[in-house]
Amino acid sequence: MTNRRHRGEVALVTGANKGIGRETARRLAAEGVTVYLGGRDEERGEKAARDLAGDAADVRFLQLDVTDQAQIDDAVKQVDEAFGRLDILVNNAGVAIEWGTAVDQVTVEQMRRTYEVNVFGVVAVTSAFIPLLRRSPAARVVNLSSALGSLTLLSDPEQLVTSVGLLAYSSSKTALNSLTVLYAHALREDGILVNAANPGFVATDLNDHRGQLTIEQGADLPVQLALLGAGGPTGTFLGRHDNEEQEVVPW
Ligand code: NAP
Repeated sequence: MTNRRHRGEVALVTGANKGIGRETARRLAAEGVTVYLGGRDEERGEKAARDLAGDAADVRFLQLDVTDQAQIDDAVKQVDEAFGRLDILVNNAGVAIEWGTAVDQVTVEQMRRTYEVNVFGVVAVTSAFIPLLRRSPAARVVNLSSALGSLTLLSDPEQLVTSVGLLAYSSSKTALNSLTVLYAHALREDGILVNAANPGFVATDLNDHRGQLTIEQGADLPVQLALLGAGGPTGTFLGRHDNEEQEVVPW
């Protein structure tokens, strides 16, 4: 257990029943943060929250499918009633559903299903929680993006990311990067920091565990950005480009 510098803060991590989100929730709770662990499946989410809670870690399951507005509204109500504010929002929930489909074969339906979670879900959750984020003295929002969303890297044939070719997933993360910059600008005056994190290529269910990094390594940056102090950077895109050391990722 760490020194619990962030005791008393309240966080929501979406899609946190497994993978990078679960590890991010675990680490924030270890810092003394009360963590709402968002998950769309009640049984798996409750189990993850139970497994992480204990040793004074305060982890609470929150039923939250980011594509379900009624669940989002209920989630805001629950956090509002319990704390009246939100200090940290980690938009982690994400899907990649088109593996093995060539760029010219991706369907509009695949695009829609991907954008529903990776783009519209982020807007729905963020917008709904902005009033509670505004009530925090120094709120932070972290968006889980990807090097695959970087137009600069995707335009350079020398870059590894150009060989991946996930039309729906990549473009959804580009849109998420745009949301990051726009929210960062709009919320700057409220002191709310909004940043995008590329966790690196992490072995999770999302990529059938082909990633080279562990979930512990993948959660390093999201946790760091979630714990930024007041006046920290906003509107940035940081990450582990090519799994090297942390650096600014070009948009
Ligand atoms: P993961 O293990 O597959 O976890 C994804 C999480 O998102 C799961 O908890 C999943 O819930 C949840 N989710 C999916 N649709 C949802 C919805 N409609 N509502 C709420 N939750 C939903 O993948 P991961 O690798 O940890 O990914 C976490 C984030 O990191 C994603 O945004 C991903 O794009 C990003 N990222 C990952 C990598 C990588 O190499 N792994 C690289 C760059 C960025 P269920 O269990 O119910 O499906």
